Amino acid sequence: MFSRISTRLFITQLCILLTLSAIFIGLFVYTAPLFLQELNQRLNLDLADNIVKEKKMILNNKVNQKALKAVLNGMMLVNPSIEIYITDPAGKIMAFSAPEGAVKRKQISIEPINEFISSKTHLPVLGDDPRSTDGYKAFSVAPIKNGNNLEGYLYIVLGGENYDSIFNFLESSYLLRSWLAAIAISLVIASILAYFLFRYITRRVYILSDAIEQFKKTDFTTPVSLPERFDGITGDEIDQLGSTLLQMSDRIIQQVKLLKHNDSSRRELIANVSHDLRTPLASLQGYLETLLLKKEIVSDDEAQEYIKTAFENSQRLQKLISELFELASLENNDATLHFEAFSMSELAQDVSQKFKLHAKNKDITIETKIPEKPVFVSADIGLIQRVLENLIDNAIKYTPTGGTVEVILGTGESSVATLIRDSGQGISDDEAQFIFDRFYRVEKHRDEDGSGLGLAIVKRIMQLHNRSISVSPAPDKGTVFSFDLPYATF
Ligand code: ADP
Repeated sequence: MFSRISTRLFITQLCILLTLSAIFIGLFVYTAPLFLQELNQRLNLDLADNIVKEKKMILNNKVNQKALKAVLNGMMLVNPSIEIYITDPAGKIMAFSAPEGAVKRKQISIEPINEFISSKTHLPVLGDDPRSTDGYKAFSVAPIKNGNNLEGYLYIVLGGENYDSIFNFLESSYLLRSWLAAIAISLVIASILAYFLFRYITRRVYILSDAIEQFKKTDFTTPVSLPERFDGITGDEIDQLGSTLLQMSDRIIQQVKLLKHNDSSRRELIANVSHDLRTPLASLQGYLETLLLKKEIVSDDEAQEYIKTAFENSQRLQKLISELFELASLENNDATLHFEAFSMSELAQDVSQKFKLHAKNKDITIETKIPEKPVFVSADIGLIQRVLENLIDNAIKYTPTGGTVEVILGTGESSVATLIRDSGQGISDDEAQFIFDRFYRVEKHRDEDGSGLGLAIVKRIMQLHNRSISVSPAPDKGTVFSFDLPYATF
């Protein structure tokens, strides 16, 4: 029931408001009578003094009843709630203005009287209320003297019985009632306003929570969508939360896709690896088995042929396994590159030279077109050599006898372009988009010797250099593979 955040906020603020109101009302109710008493006492500070100066309240050690009556009559006109008492020097009541029976004390304490007379600044000073056995009231008092002789005190209780209790006071105070009503109305208005305000502010929290719920329902596959208001730059924390949620949902979707993709390519890889390993292994096993079991009926020439084929298959196996390891280590995220400045001209020459004999055996010419001035690039020389080897090897492999393979270096503004061009059968556009995938081999080349990993290795090496490798048809016939590398800075 109270699970909505706006309801919780509303209840919290209501509790705070009610507590504050209670404290405020309590303080007000407690201090208002005191304040009124202080005010009353301050206004009537010299009342008793003035009367004592005017009238002789004690004559010949006896209360001057005449003077008392006259004062009383005068007072009645101004403030009927005033009570007048005459005490002896010890505070014993000698005469009073109240009706018989209303006075409950015979004696009033002398301390508040002395306190009032000695300092009239710390008000209110409350003295004994003769009309009750334990009450206190504001008063005005003055000593009655005959020369230097203290004969007693004129003790005037101010305010009468009006404010005896808080309820009494409440009942009588229009101001206090108005205040209480104002507080109650403000409380209601503040609560209504707060309720709508909290709902308005927390609306975006609900939108976020709904969006997350929705995202969960779609199994984290559909991106979270939020209204434009969630501006992460200029908005408040909730807006920032929204914009972060958007980024997070995109990232999660990407990661989920990547995980799925990785999972399916891992399965595909295992299937391909086991297939590609099994074929040469089975062939190797077959020939060796034949030699072992049928050595009597196998001629020397045949045996030689079987051994040669078995050896070739073991070579294929070895090549496949080492290329697999090579690709795996390049795909490992910790693969570190050793960048250095080296002459690309020299490397291109050296690698081309290395393949010259192999090309010649196929009656293919390797030509190098390299600028006169050596060009220096910054890259991992070992890996770039591997790229050149794979590309040139492929170019020779997929170019028919009598063709040409060209290794061309071109200098650009900020980088050196390397092109490996052959005059082979070329690659169709459809096939071109897959040749860099692991184990992909163009249909017509499936029977030829190869692992389908060479170009995947090339692509990964270029990726590690933050560069790309591209393939396109050669202008007349054949294929061109090209990549570029940044100039070395010395
Ligand atoms: P492979 O070991 O089969 O050569 P690669 O990854 O090096 O594996 O090449 C993938 C496929 O791309 C090859 O099987 C071949 O069909 C095609 N290919 C690569 N280079 C060339 C080229 N220069 N001309 C034509 N086809 C090529």
